[in-house]
Amino acid sequence: MDLRGMYLEELKELASKMGEPPYRGQQIFIWIHRRLALAVEEMTDLPLAFRDQLSSSHPLPPLKILESSTSALDNTLKLLLELPDGEKVECVLMEQGGRRTACLSSQAGCPLGCRFCATGQGGFRRNLTAGEMILQAVALLRKAREGDPKASLTNIVFMGMGEPLLNLEQVLRACRLFQHPKGWNISHRKITISTCGLVPQIIKLAEEKPPLELAVSLHATTDDIRSELMPINRQYPLKDVLEACRYYARVTGRRVTLEYALIKGVNDSRKDARRLGRLLKGMLAFVNLIPLNPVSGIPYQGVGEEKAKTFARWLTQEGIEVAVRRSRGRDIEAACGQLRARRERGEKY
Ligand code: SF4
Repeated sequence: MDLRGMYLEELKELASKMGEPPYRGQQIFIWIHRRLALAVEEMTDLPLAFRDQLSSSHPLPPLKILESSTSALDNTLKLLLELPDGEKVECVLMEQGGRRTACLSSQAGCPLGCRFCATGQGGFRRNLTAGEMILQAVALLRKAREGDPKASLTNIVFMGMGEPLLNLEQVLRACRLFQHPKGWNISHRKITISTCGLVPQIIKLAEEKPPLELAVSLHATTDDIRSELMPINRQYPLKDVLEACRYYARVTGRRVTLEYALIKGVNDSRKDARRLGRLLKGMLAFVNLIPLNPVSGIPYQGVGEEKAKTFARWLTQEGIEVAVRRSRGRDIEAACGQLRARRERGEKY
């Protein structure tokens, strides 16, 4: 396994197996997760012979940044990374009000094919490993530290490429690594997994209660519209998704965040707000209204700020807790999958 995806205990065990005291495992852990090392050779407090041995048996997969763009509007940073097997993944860093949030990918591509999403249009390639998720955070934070050497990540969201619940084991491994006090030390309340509504996996999460926050993409108030936007709705229709969310909230005592991307003329009417009010009645939930970032070649348009505020007011009148999320990185194609798609068409940024 990639050293970046190994727990502290596993690294200690590895060090012992290689004839070193277990505390060497902790040194490696700190180099990876706190000092953001990119190669075993950088770990200068390890004995030279051990470093040589480790770098040939467990080399750290290299960081290769294919593209890096920073929004002139809000400083959002987006990176396109190339993994050793040639797969390309995107990750984004957003800074706002003292928070520094990394938005990570959990898969190269995605099999769910949501119609408004560039990643969904590009198909599925493979699951990412926990180490590859950590590598994205390393890449983003190293960039942030170029401007502020003391920078740290405060929040992690799995809202990049891929459906995290289809790669749950590796995503949970990455989450535990992000929470470790000797490494990233990010509170479980600041780590969010976002799903398109895979019912069996939501139920599994409710029962296993891993410490993290759950966000579910709703995006519509009728099955017709939701199936048009998200083909997965044919397998797990709205009613089942919301039932699973209610179950999750009841069993865990945690609020579910429901993501709702406002799309002009599709899901933004007064009727939609009323229906959403009825669907969510009595549920421990919070609605995040997301401005749909423009995606080239996709026939949907987001709504303006005023319309988003009006829709939020309608939901408040329905007794629903709601926030309007600001659009980030509009000028750098922040919606996931766009850099990769353009790169694969052979166009440069
Ligand atoms: S929105 Fe998420 S789940 Fe849907 S296709 Fe895009 S990456 Fe996959």
